[in-house]
Amino acid sequence: MASSMAFKPFTGLRQSTLTTPETTTTTPITFTKLPSSKTAIRAAITSPKLTGRNLRVAVIGGGPAGGSAAETLAKNGIETFLIERKLDNCKPCGGAIPLCMVGEFDLPLDIIDRRVTKMKMISPSNVAVDIGRTLKPHEYIGMVRREVLDEYLRERAAGFGATVINGLFLKMDLPEGKDGSYKLHYTGYDAKSGGAGERRMLEVDAVIGADGANSRVAKAIGAGDYEYAIAFQERIKIPDAKMQYYEDLAEMYVGDDVSPDFYGWVFPKCDHVAVGTGTVTHKSDIKKFQLATRTRAMDKIQGGKIIRVEAHPIPEHPRPKRVLDRVALVGDAAGYVTKCSGEGIYFAAKSGRMCAEAIVEGSANGKRMVDESDLRKYLEKWDKKYWPTYKVLDILQKVFYRSNPAREAFVEMCADEYVQKMTFDSYLYKTVVPGNPLDDLKLAVRTVGSLVRAYGLRREMEKIEA
Ligand SMILES: Cc1cc2nc3c(=O)[nH]c(=O)nc-3n(C[C@H](O)[C@H](O)[C@H](O)COP(=O)(O)OP(=O)(O)OC[C@H]3O[C@@H](n4cnc5c(N)ncnc54)[C@H](O)[C@@H]3O)c2cc1C
Repeated sequence: MASSMAFKPFTGLRQSTLTTPETTTTTPITFTKLPSSKTAIRAAITSPKLTGRNLRVAVIGGGPAGGSAAETLAKNGIETFLIERKLDNCKPCGGAIPLCMVGEFDLPLDIIDRRVTKMKMISPSNVAVDIGRTLKPHEYIGMVRREVLDEYLRERAAGFGATVINGLFLKMDLPEGKDGSYKLHYTGYDAKSGGAGERRMLEVDAVIGADGANSRVAKAIGAGDYEYAIAFQERIKIPDAKMQYYEDLAEMYVGDDVSPDFYGWVFPKCDHVAVGTGTVTHKSDIKKFQLATRTRAMDKIQGGKIIRVEAHPIPEHPRPKRVLDRVALVGDAAGYVTKCSGEGIYFAAKSGRMCAEAIVEGSANGKRMVDESDLRKYLEKWDKKYWPTYKVLDILQKVFYRSNPAREAFVEMCADEYVQKMTFDSYLYKTVVPGNPLDDLKLAVRTVGSLVRAYGLRREMEKIEA
């Protein structure tokens, strides 16, 4: 279906500068064609020049990380192969994306199912706080179905010249010698191979592992493991009258019942809602938490029909190793999901693009061989840009998701307009937003107040129960 939507003129919202959101103007821009801007080139002086061919790079995995990496490589002179095992893959995912992704990745609005402008945060005792009040008229959280987004990005990469291969990557032989090639073994599926597929081999100079949480590329380079959450989701088709309630609204539920360390969600899609939850600490109880999430939302989803049940791991932190020689990991394969929000789509697309840019730059647009130092530049940039974001969300999760009183305090705090503005600006634009010192101080006092009240309440409850 995405083939019909690729390369169509569209109107998107693009953040016009990289300044803080307070000074940023977000203006509607009419696109008539996709930008073909080339990545700035710094000629690599030491690496050998390639003769008679350009640099060949394989991207394993065609999710947002792989699609974005392949597009950047292909439009900047690299011979690009994108290997995806399932071209109609429906990645289990809530599909919430920040506004800045729409602009930065030139996403056509017709691949976005819903524009959420209202978010309800619902506490363990079912106190609901509306947290979209500070959004400006053009701001929203995008809700996508992954089968639509991923296909769109892959086809766009193909439009720039990437060869998309329907294949299951199996293993790779490491290069012999400094500039030797990687031999990738995969099962290819096409008209010639039939349904069972056919063992094939591809030789490349560098590999980007964008093959998600169970990455075989990570295994192949001994990248090490990470802790992970298991997330469960049901797509539920609810009656039209009930769907109206979720037209531009999403819900987040917190409480021991829905998850001991994460949150439950109801996210609206084109004609259904996605209801899910996740946990790191109590994985075997995930179905119990899912039932609780559904029960909490029951009055709004009653009469609904479950049309799809899906589950998948979510990485908790980066792998010990993300680059080795001429192989780099991006997206979930690298472990780039934020704590607290469980957000990974934007970071996957962004890391895919940044890694590809490092290869383009290091190879002088595919004219030279790359080495590990070229790929490491992507890691340096990445860690510098996003480490604070990951750290802040890690701390927030530790403070506010650890008990029901802390969650009550969290939801109480979310009623504060300053908190909402800071949270939304950081989420929508992926910038660490500098606060106003006086408001920060007031917020700190209110936070402590909320936590003290919540713990006082817990003590009283314990006395009553004793
Ligand atoms: C239930 C759930 C809800 C979530 N909700 C959100 C949300 O609302 N917002 C958000 O931002 N993030 C969310 N996330 C996280 C988000 O889904 C991931 O961070 C994101 O998909 C990472 O993208 P990726 O391209 O790195 O990997 P993936 O999306 O996992 O893509 C990997 C691709 O590689 C392919 N592949 C895997 N192995 C092979 C192989 N051997 N050979 C060939 N191809 C292979 C797969 O088929 C897949 O297409 C959620 C995750 C889960 C599990």
